[in-house]
Amino acid sequence: KNMINMIAAGEVIERPANIVKELMENSIDAGASRIAVSVEDGGKRLIQVTDDGGGIEPEDIETAFEPHATSKLRTMDELLGISSMGFRGEALASISSVARVKIKSRERDSISAYSMEIDCGDKGAVTPVSGDYGTTLEVRDLFYKLPARRKFLKTVNTEMGHISEQFTRIALANCGIEMKLSHNGRLLYHLLAGDDVVSRISVLLTKDIAQGLVPVLSEEKDLTIAAYLGHPSISRTTNKFQYTFLNGRYIRDRFITHSLKEAYRGLTEPNRFPVAFIFLQMPYDMYDVNVHPTKIEVRFDNPNLVHSQLLGVIREKLMSLDLDVEA
Ligand code: ADP
Ligand code: MG
Repeated sequence: KNMINMIAAGEVIERPANIVKELMENSIDAGASRIAVSVEDGGKRLIQVTDDGGGIEPEDIETAFEPHATSKLRTMDELLGISSMGFRGEALASISSVARVKIKSRERDSISAYSMEIDCGDKGAVTPVSGDYGTTLEVRDLFYKLPARRKFLKTVNTEMGHISEQFTRIALANCGIEMKLSHNGRLLYHLLAGDDVVSRISVLLTKDIAQGLVPVLSEEKDLTIAAYLGHPSISRTTNKFQYTFLNGRYIRDRFITHSLKEAYRGLTEPNRFPVAFIFLQMPYDMYDVNVHPTKIEVRFDNPNLVHSQLLGVIREKLMSLDLDVEA
């Protein structure tokens, strides 16, 4: 049974960065105001995520690692009103079936923390330990019992690049939360709570990207768009610097990519991708996020609404700027 779980988990957990994402999202769901991510060897040796969130009561620690053990979804109404990051209840079960995992958690009003270890699905006992309130998850030696999967992991630098990217996406969508990322004992980023998004962009993605971003806002009944637009002259050869967030969650969507392209048409050189950070707020019942296990893609009930409102507001803003257009 463990082997089957391990193989199934391998399909959800491709690489360390997936784990970082799942653990950080759990911390956010737990109401954390501080999240510290610490990894060793690109996450292949260790991924540790510590938060100051609500914690888990000792009776629930074991259950949290059962498949489909989410505490975040109870009724169909809640499914329609999904607002938390995780709702499949699979992350901890999957991760703990392919690595050595240790959890330590203490609820705010509890006098003790509790800890449990799971080694590739083999659960140890829940024992009281000392510790601060909040939760720490440690994931060591990913895929160590699955050499074929372990071999698929890339170099430390490549895996670290993926981790940084996940960290960046989550950090940009959650500026109210203090966040740290360290690698092999070196602090890479320390983002303070209440930073504005542009300063996080500057720290996480360089000053060149952050400089001169133009803010726009469009509020309609079903869709609020807040965006930071790059000057056409800093458009890139890839769409790597187009970030879209829907209700606080990073997404990729071809309608959005397309409206950006349309909005910048004639202002950038052809084959260049504008730089843009787009934050959408939309009622939860107007789209479906459950189309892909990694939850990056969504299906809008009314993609034309998104496309046209976005195109409209961006185009209008770009036209109002005194652009020195050479294209
Ligand atoms: P999901 O997030 O989809 O519910 P997970 O497998 O990621 O599923 O987590 C299982 C459960 O463990 C969560 O529903 C939550 O109750 C608990 N949990 C996980 N991480 C944390 C955390 N950092 N703080 C508090 N509770 C947590
Ligand atoms: Mg989760």
